[in-house]
Amino acid sequence: MDHRGRQRRLQTSLPTHRLDALLVTHLPNIFYLCGFSGSAGALVVTEAGSVFFTDGRYTDQARTEVQGAQFVIAPKAPLTAAAEWLTALRTKQGRGKVSHLRAGIEGEHMTVAARTQLAHTLPSKIRLREAPPLIERARMVKDAEEIQRIRAACLLGAGLFERALEVIRPGVKETEIAAEMEYRARKAGAEAMSFPTIIASGKRSALPHGRASDAGVPRRGFVVCDFGVILTRYCSDMTRTVHVGQPSAKTRGAYEAVKEAQQAAVDAVRPGVSVGEVDQIARKSLQNSGLGKYFTHSTGHGVGLEIHEAPRVAAGQTEVLQPGMVITVEPGIYIAGKWGVRIEDMVVVTERGCEVLTPTSKELVTI
Ligand code: ZN
Ligand code: ZN
Repeated sequence: MDHRGRQRRLQTSLPTHRLDALLVTHLPNIFYLCGFSGSAGALVVTEAGSVFFTDGRYTDQARTEVQGAQFVIAPKAPLTAAAEWLTALRTKQGRGKVSHLRAGIEGEHMTVAARTQLAHTLPSKIRLREAPPLIERARMVKDAEEIQRIRAACLLGAGLFERALEVIRPGVKETEIAAEMEYRARKAGAEAMSFPTIIASGKRSALPHGRASDAGVPRRGFVVCDFGVILTRYCSDMTRTVHVGQPSAKTRGAYEAVKEAQQAAVDAVRPGVSVGEVDQIARKSLQNSGLGKYFTHSTGHGVGLEIHEAPRVAAGQTEVLQPGMVITVEPGIYIAGKWGVRIEDMVVVTERGCEVLTPTSKELVTI
């Protein structure tokens, strides 16, 4: 991981955004920039360099992990230590000058309480400003090592579907199915699941985010399985929908329509296409099948250090795909009180198109 390069690019972009410093507090962003994987820290990035603050619990970890930044073990909250460091910097730089020091914060990730506390700690010569999501934007395009890690996470994740097929039977509780999949994930080396496993059977399949409940799988109907793992810090995410018992012509038709829409959107993924267009293609396809109104969420999202990250693959989004971006393509339809179907793959954008990272078959499996 080229932490120094990542920091350098961020440092050189600060003046463009009229920032003298960026206070990074979102842990995945801290990990991305300097490699620290603990749960308390603040990274101050200035054009001249970066300083990372953490507390005494992380002395050894900071020593082994932090790259491209000095680190300070603070006897107080890292954010307070960072604020004091910024104050000292302003004093040093500001002698004889009246200008303010412009410090960016990550507004999406800082609590109101933390911001208030910061404003109290900092002198009036330091102005806090919500910075644009510079690091999130950089994180959209993955480097070769990140893609390698994501590929491995997806392969491990995809293997869990085989376990699901072994255990999905009428009467088995959804939580039990999730448990078997999660046990296999941990046995295979996953650090954690990337989100609570979704097993939504029968009528519950109409809930787009139906976390596994203590409901038993009914004798007949769809079961939506949406799951992912974290491996070497990177997330995977995929969905397959299976049918218990024989589907009616209508429900099989609906499944095929979702599969077609999903494939059409995957086929459209390539550099130069906007994420809004990918969404549009999935939506159009379902509209043509007369099911458009049941597709009630966006088509996908970026995946990496976090399970949901930029870009959003949604209507009206203008972000243009570039090689190295990793997104999900996951159209679904949901008929309230009856059933739902979703199919989700993760893909990485290549020079010419995309590579599907979750190569599990999408043919309807009946159990
Ligand atoms: Zn998913
Ligand atoms: Zn997803």
